[in-house]
Amino acid sequence: MMIRIAVLKERESGERRVAMVPAVIERLTRLECAVTIEAGAGAALGIADDAFAGATMVDDVATLVADADIVLAVQPPNPETLAAMREGALLVCFTQTADMPAMSDRLAARQITCLAMERVPRISRAQSIDALSSQAALAGYYAPLLGATHLGRILPRMTTAAGSLRPAAVLVMGLGVAGLQAIATARRLGAVVEGYDVRPETRDEAASLGARFVETGVDARGEGGYARELTPEEKQTVAAAVTRHLQAADLVITTAAVPGRPAPELISAEQAAGMKAGAVIVDLAADSGGNCALSQPGETVHRGGITVIAPLNVPSRLAEHASELYARNILNLLELLIVDGELAPDWNDEVLAAMRLGPVDEPAGQRDNTAIA
Ligand code: NAD
Repeated sequence: MMIRIAVLKERESGERRVAMVPAVIERLTRLECAVTIEAGAGAALGIADDAFAGATMVDDVATLVADADIVLAVQPPNPETLAAMREGALLVCFTQTADMPAMSDRLAARQITCLAMERVPRISRAQSIDALSSQAALAGYYAPLLGATHLGRILPRMTTAAGSLRPAAVLVMGLGVAGLQAIATARRLGAVVEGYDVRPETRDEAASLGARFVETGVDARGEGGYARELTPEEKQTVAAAVTRHLQAADLVITTAAVPGRPAPELISAEQAAGMKAGAVIVDLAADSGGNCALSQPGETVHRGGITVIAPLNVPSRLAEHASELYARNILNLLELLIVDGELAPDWNDEVLAAMRLGPVDEPAGQRDNTAIA
């Protein structure tokens, strides 16, 4: 029997992405999947219903999910949709929501197993599934463009008949996936770029993209390739090393995150006050509170001559490519779940085990439900 896959239309305000795009549907049918899509799912990014060739469009969300084996979404579905899902079905989506305890209860009530797209382990075998990376790369690309449109100056050196203009100085703080892409874009636009991170291994990565690394002397490597939170003493050491570079920057892009914690503050109000008039900060960590003391998530504020932009859900602004990469991440995940046309997840696989929230077909005593506790 075909594996029934349902794709939801996103309902969260400001979410323009969709979990499946026409280009990937043919690959799903080759995996012996029957795909149904909620009518209007692609409307926010300009994909008409009839572009989803090979899929069946369904108007009513309850009908759509009622007999689906796998439900695909970007954001966590609302309670009504979860309640309408078949018991024991699989749900694939991001689960970063303040409402997670309630959602866990709803998943448990319907015996739904959720594969959380933000929990893909950072190992090479899982790179093609890694939705945090695919979306962060796009956000990082976008940040210098957003910042550039708020500057009263250009990024590259320009020689004109009237005289020469110096290139802008860009400082990128936090050199993970997004930060490295931000460096690459800022360099392509002709800026002089500096970068800084608390993981020293980022020094070479920054250099290979043409950015100068700001040495802070702090090594805050944590587990799984992530950074750990800094101690108060380390914060002081970093601030002392970074302040002078902030004062010289025209555009600052912050991307720092620590797993399971609010975004660390990298720029205090005092440091921001010391920046050049006309300087711009783009805070890519706004979704988790922001890296700058002046950031107002979702807003652009002007304080003491500088502009602080703290956009939410940046990948949604690049919904076409963000959806395409997300859909490919999901396809690669489904290739792991579907064996010879059968849905046969191996819950001992370290990738699936890390992503899994909720019950699976195991004796109750062996279940690991810590993630939904
Ligand atoms: P992230 O979003 O967790 O954080 C962004 C950056 O902020 C990180 O580089 C982190 O070191 C930095 N940071 C944290 N606190 C900071 C502070 N106080 N000051 C300055 N910088 C600070 O990072 P990410 O983009 O998710 O990447 C995390 C790690 O995972 C990296 O080592 C990356 O190379 C690795 N990664 C591996 C794979 C894979 O192998 N499949 C895929 C993606 C990322």
